[in-house]
Amino acid sequence: MKPPAFEYLAPTSIEAAVAALGGEEAKVLAGGQSLVPMMNFRLLAPSLLVDISRIPGLDDIREDDDGLRIGAMTKHHQVETSHLMQKHFPIVTATMAHVAHLAIRNRGTIGGSLCHGDPAAEWPGLALLLNAQLKTTRRVIPAGDFYEGALATDLADDEILTEIQLPSLAPGTGWGFEEMARRSGDFALAAVGATVHLSGDTVAEARIVAIGAHETPLRLTTAEGLLKDRASIAAVAVAAMDEVSPNSDLHGSADYRRHLVGVLTRRALTAAWERAA
Ligand SMILES: Cc1cc2nc3c(=O)[nH]c(=O)nc-3n(C[C@H](O)[C@H](O)[C@H](O)COP(=O)(O)OP(=O)(O)OC[C@H]3O[C@@H](n4cnc5c(N)ncnc54)[C@H](O)[C@@H]3O)c2cc1C
Repeated sequence: MKPPAFEYLAPTSIEAAVAALGGEEAKVLAGGQSLVPMMNFRLLAPSLLVDISRIPGLDDIREDDDGLRIGAMTKHHQVETSHLMQKHFPIVTATMAHVAHLAIRNRGTIGGSLCHGDPAAEWPGLALLLNAQLKTTRRVIPAGDFYEGALATDLADDEILTEIQLPSLAPGTGWGFEEMARRSGDFALAAVGATVHLSGDTVAEARIVAIGAHETPLRLTTAEGLLKDRASIAAVAVAAMDEVSPNSDLHGSADYRRHLVGVLTRRALTAAWERAA
């Protein structure tokens, strides 16, 4: 299908882009890998697309004292092949292989993925797991406050995400990311990411996030607390299943997705624990 007619603007400054977004049924165009299919299916019909790909300075990955800063227009494949990312956040590097196919990763952007807000997408879950701070043209939003529901964020119509800040993990933090999809490149039926930081044989910090098992990505705080209280990984996995509320659809039932969350939590935590130890 073809999209309804629309106007197209490609400003070269962020100020011009924000100005263009005010007052019309306008949408930001980043990589177009989610927006354009939605327009082709007539699920969206913006009258103006504001292409932000010609604005300089939005597509690099930088290291600073607090961690990494990733421009919102950085493409999935840039992240996947970044030495800085591999050094600081190997969980992100490993997870990128689950995002769609290489052709889509070559065009799709981190900012687009975060702003699209598909509950089965990897980046929204990673942002939550890694306590990302999302810098926009107006403010800085903690990832935990960004999602209001499936495909719904806290962004205003004329607000642009410009940068994702990933705070450093404590040295020695172990990680695991496990996903189940029907075919390679498909969205996750469910996925779980985990980080574990040990202090001696006690858990100083544990984070667990579930993807595709709730209307937004979800931190599994009860399961995290149990792990800190020295529950077994098997018991934590059972608690994780109780925390999610997945939907049934063509691809899998809610019960199956809940079961997956249990299995994937066990696997992700085991991997995180081994890396931490
Ligand atoms: C066949 C297929 C399979 C896919 N599989 C997966 C998968 O397994 N996992 C996964 O995570 N993704 C998957 N995707 C989606 C892909 O990752 C997209 O790259 C991503 O969802 C959107 O990024 P984009 O840059 O193309 O954004 P666009 O499509 O250009 O924009 C998406 C939305 O975000 C808004 N937006 C974009 N950038 C900004 C910004 N900086 N500030 C404010 N609003 C903004 C747009 O207005 C639009 O509403 C798949 C896509 C396809 C077509």
